[in-house]
Amino acid sequence: MRVVKILAVSDQIVDRIYLLVSSGHFRDVDLILGCGDLPYTYLEFIMTVLNKPLYYVPGNHDPAYDPNDVRSKAEGGSNLDLRTVRHQNYLIGGFGGSIRYRPDGTNQYTQSEASQRAFQMLPQLIGNSLRHGRALDILIAHSPPFGIHDDTDQAHNGLKALNWLIRAAKPRYFFHGHTHFYRSNIAKNETILNGTRIINVYPYKIIDIQ
Ligand SMILES: [Zn+2]
Repeated sequence: MRVVKILAVSDQIVDRIYLLVSSGHFRDVDLILGCGDLPYTYLEFIMTVLNKPLYYVPGNHDPAYDPNDVRSKAEGGSNLDLRTVRHQNYLIGGFGGSIRYRPDGTNQYTQSEASQRAFQMLPQLIGNSLRHGRALDILIAHSPPFGIHDDTDQAHNGLKALNWLIRAAKPRYFFHGHTHFYRSNIAKNETILNGTRIINVYPYKIIDIQ
C-alpha cells in the first residue's frame, strides 16, 4: 500500500497554515483530518485550497450539529462523529466531543454518556470486521483517552469510552486534540498502546501512514 500523507489539525488556528497552504507547501497531502475546536471556515479554507477530502469531528467549542444550519458544519467535509467511512481502502472512524464540565455544554458528555455513544458504533465496527477483516485503521476524536495525554482538571479528563474504542477497534492510528501542552519539557504528544499510535495533533501535524 502506498504512503498516505495526512494533515491533521485541531484546537488552534495557526496563522502560518494559511501561508503554507496557499504557497503549495502541503500539495502532497492526501487527506485532511480535523480533530475539533476549530472554526469551520478554517477547515473549509484548507480543504478548498488543497482540494483534498476532509474528515472531522466536532469539539466542545463547536456548535451542535444541525443539518439545516451551514454554520454547524464544514461545507464539503464529512462530519465523522459516531460514523465510519472507507476512504481509499482506509477505514476511518470518528468520535466528537469531550468530558462534560458544564451542565449545559455542547458536545460534552459524562463518562457513561460517552460510553453509550461509543457502543452505538459497535454495529459499524463489527460490519467493518466482517467485510474487511479489521474494524478501523484510523480513529479521530476531539478528546484524548482517559489517562493518556489528558489532564487532571475536570475539563481535560480523557474519555474512558475512547480507551474502550481503541481496545475494541484496534486502529493503527488514533488522532485527538483538546489538550494543549505549552511547556515543551513535559510535552508528550505520542504514545503507543497495544499497537495503536496515539497522537495529539494540537495544533497541527503531518503524518505519513502506510
Ligand atoms: Zn476541546
